Amino acid sequence: RTLQVDLGDRSYPIYIGSGLLNEAGLIFAKHQLSKKSPVLIVTDDHVAPLYLKRVEENLQAEGYRTVSKVVKAGEKAKSLDVFHDVMTAAIEGGLDRRSAVVALGGGVVGDLAGFVAATYMRGVPFVQMPTTILAHDSSVGGKVAINHPLAKNMIGAFHQPELVLYDVDTLRTLPEREIRAGLSEMVKHGLIWDAEFAAWCGENTDRLLALDPETLSYGLTMGCSIKAQVVSQDERELGLRAILNLGHTIGHALEAIGGYGEFLHGEAISIGMAASALIAVNRGADRALYAETVRLLGGFGLPTVMPEHLDEERIIGAMMHDKKFKEQQLVFVLPVAIGQVEIVSDVKVEEVRRVIRELKKEG
Ligand code: NAD
Ligand code: ZN
Repeated sequence: RTLQVDLGDRSYPIYIGSGLLNEAGLIFAKHQLSKKSPVLIVTDDHVAPLYLKRVEENLQAEGYRTVSKVVKAGEKAKSLDVFHDVMTAAIEGGLDRRSAVVALGGGVVGDLAGFVAATYMRGVPFVQMPTTILAHDSSVGGKVAINHPLAKNMIGAFHQPELVLYDVDTLRTLPEREIRAGLSEMVKHGLIWDAEFAAWCGENTDRLLALDPETLSYGLTMGCSIKAQVVSQDERELGLRAILNLGHTIGHALEAIGGYGEFLHGEAISIGMAASALIAVNRGADRALYAETVRLLGGFGLPTVMPEHLDEERIIGAMMHDKKFKEQQLVFVLPVAIGQVEIVSDVKVEEVRRVIRELKKEG
């Protein structure tokens, strides 16, 4: 399957399917990625032993010279230190302006390598080769970033890839916790845009968790397609695109105070989506909206309560550093119904305190 992200002269295809790693070289050539310039493959130390050699050999067989940089797996790789190390690899590897930077891995590698691609020599071609379920989201849309210890994704850019090559076979080696966490963003795409797809996620929970090929491919294609539609309408997040941040205001705060280790991104935003639904209920929405959100996420084994040990003040403090905080008011994405959200800019810190307490009681 191929989807197109329509962004004028920055449009690009998303290839989704089985066995695509073995076609990487051909597809790179088809998209005119330079064979004269070295290609930098960025990956992590979980993914490298599984797939790096295959990608290197496949590109080399097609006439590409490759340089690889393996970083330590985990969110901590989205740091200035690791960014520096990848830049060093790019310079030592002799990359030039026509060189492609390839992200082979999950959202962490995608965001890190993408930020390198955006900044190396003021920007070089970028290719996403996602290997996690979560990366159906992160590999599309061109947002790339690293973290600051005080705030998530604070240092970044918009840099669209030349193409996304999503080989779903790679998902078979994912740890179970990563499968659940990745499906969190899939459910999000239903919750913000498509009630029918949200319901489908609920009906196919077990098949998705079991990575049933047909079910998974459909879900990933739908997720990518929703993301692509939203991004096509608002590449730079001047308005609509912000709906993709459902659950992320609180989610990012939880990630930051957890030291980027306690919660996986998908887990943190799951709690954040439950919290957003509860804020909406406290503002008058039907309680069924919260109940249904929790039922959907809970079905995937995702957390929807606030762990007792998390200090309220620290959560609020971390939210203040978020990019979505303006003049003592929080910009929040709140559900209106399943499949529909609104962006509100007048959420008071007090409302957030209240749901933090309420969600602790649910635990
Ligand atoms: P990740 O990249 O850390 O991958 C999860 C774990 O799975 C890692 O340990 C990784 O080594 C391992 N792994 C990856 N592929 C594997 C495979 N095929 N087999 C076995 N193990 C594998 O995390 P993620 O959940 O993919 O991405 C989360 C990140 O994505 C967060 O930093 C989040 O902020 C970012 N994100 C970015 C965007 C965006 O638009 N740029 C959107 C959503 C999320
Ligand atoms: Zn996310």
